[in-house]
Amino acid sequence: MRYIQLFDKNLEAGQLPRQGVLPQAVMDSAASIVADVRERGDKALREYCKKFDGVDISDFAVDPSVMDDALEQVGPAFRAALEKAAAQIRDFHQREVEQSWFTTRADGTMLGCRVTPLPAVGIYVPGGRAQYPSTVLMNAIPAKVAGVKRIVMVTPPQKEGGISPYTLAAAKVAGVDEIYMVGGAQAVAALAFGTESIPKVAKVTGPGNAFVAAAKRLVSGDVGIDMVAGPSEVCVLADESANPMVVAADLMAQAEHDPLAACYLVTYSESFARDVERGIELLVSQSPREEITRTSLANEGVIVLANSLDQAVAAVNTIAPEHLELHCEDAMGLLGKIENAGAIFVGKWSSEPLGDYVAGPNHTLPTGGTALFSNPLSVEDFVKRSSVVCYTPAGLLKDAPATQTLAQGEGLWAHALSAALRRRALEQGEDSV
Ligand code: NAD
Repeated sequence: MRYIQLFDKNLEAGQLPRQGVLPQAVMDSAASIVADVRERGDKALREYCKKFDGVDISDFAVDPSVMDDALEQVGPAFRAALEKAAAQIRDFHQREVEQSWFTTRADGTMLGCRVTPLPAVGIYVPGGRAQYPSTVLMNAIPAKVAGVKRIVMVTPPQKEGGISPYTLAAAKVAGVDEIYMVGGAQAVAALAFGTESIPKVAKVTGPGNAFVAAAKRLVSGDVGIDMVAGPSEVCVLADESANPMVVAADLMAQAEHDPLAACYLVTYSESFARDVERGIELLVSQSPREEITRTSLANEGVIVLANSLDQAVAAVNTIAPEHLELHCEDAMGLLGKIENAGAIFVGKWSSEPLGDYVAGPNHTLPTGGTALFSNPLSVEDFVKRSSVVCYTPAGLLKDAPATQTLAQGEGLWAHALSAALRRRALEQGEDSV
């Protein structure tokens, strides 16, 4: 891991290895895939599946009955864990439901906001280097809670073909309606523009690797997207009260996702940081994902040595990590000082993987510093709002003069006329226009 010693200056974003920008080569590659799928549909999808996943696919649609078989296959313990996680995720997201609201002014004019679910959403479930049944739950459950009628899941085929039964079982538990076996930028393009076999949706959500993130950025505007959720990140803010072995495990829990996953340790003690590094060295050779973990820590692992708690907190806010763990004496006391983080795990018992699976809050979170301005995936991502305006004659008479004046000021003649015609009718005693 690379050390950044802060001395008397606070951490600056420019010192970090990643700053929320997807590499240009990845953007270019995703752009050509997206354009190709838009133009050639299923034919292009088949070619990319062969090229990137090594699988020949004739039919992308997965028969929904395989979800029932998968639920049997995964065994009772996994099924029970899925159902427990689903219940806790549902409970958390039900608290996010936004109701339509209406208000009436004294003149009877009604104003309001109507909240309606999106008609169809596509959820991207990663499947390249690992299986993510948890991501199925985290995307489909808030969509279901929001009232989305058609939940379409896409996920890459496994090397040996087919989709993992764990992912399929999660799709059943979460209430996914349709499944297509396709991944990467090509899957995002298919959901955004539609192909012969994959119908277009209104919004694409879910995390993925850099190609998936780049494709989502490219199709944004043609369809809605939740966020550009790229390779995972963790930042652990730890003092010497933390167990270095536990902190080592927590850093490795992100590093094992992806060679591009980023791990930050922010601390004030160099000897503690060295203990954490020794802990990683002891643990990493036992990991079946040793190579990915080592690459990620070597490329994107950073230890920030601060000289005070305030400087450490400022460093965290500069990093704006996807996941933040507070492993400090007064972790709860620090919570109020954290401004930028996708999810905050407070205290030594709050292992970040609990949040990945069962705690309840969403694990699809802003990465690459975008926690500065964006939010975890939520029910809000699966609804839209329409403003409602219903004037009475009394209300029209009150507001028409200001409308006409503002319209005239903007030089918009017909705007003024639209209000004037109604006003004149009422002033002449007519009860209709
Ligand atoms: P993935 O499904 O995102 O990507 C696999 C696909 O990438 C393949 O199907 C292929 O089509 C495409 N691909 C691979 N190499 C390519 C290349 N050279 N050019 C173009 N396309 C290529 O699965 P993954 O790769 O395992 O990545 C999963 C990512 O999702 C990880 O970075 C992980 O950290 C992240 N993740 C994030 C969250 C979150 O909430 N932010 C949650 C779960 C997973």
